[in-house]
Amino acid sequence: MHEYSLVEALLRRVEEEARQRNATAVHGLKVSLGELAGVEPELFRTAYETFREGTLCEKATLEIVRCPAIYVCPSCGKSFARGEVLRCERCARPARMDEKSDALLLESIDMEVP
Ligand SMILES: [Zn+2]
Repeated sequence: MHEYSLVEALLRRVEEEARQRNATAVHGLKVSLGELAGVEPELFRTAYETFREGTLCEKATLEIVRCPAIYVCPSCGKSFARGEVLRCERCARPARMDEKSDALLLESIDMEVP
């Protein structure tokens, strides 16, 4: 299950950030999860519950913000709804998928800094 390796990478990243700021505890994490990222939110959460033991995130809550797949025009920024033709009529350009649509991103870390 790749959710496990994603969580491991996430925890490593958080510990790194926490160390850099001399944080003593991490209270919460917020991640955004794109609809097309191929990550099952429930599996991700289960993996998180498993792996956080013994890490700085042991007591940290996990907030997963799900991002629907979004397409935008690279020229004017117009966004497209699901089922629409993915081409901007005004700019005559094909729409491009927003980077959050297929990504797992660490949005914020709530940590205790002395
Ligand atoms: Zn456009």
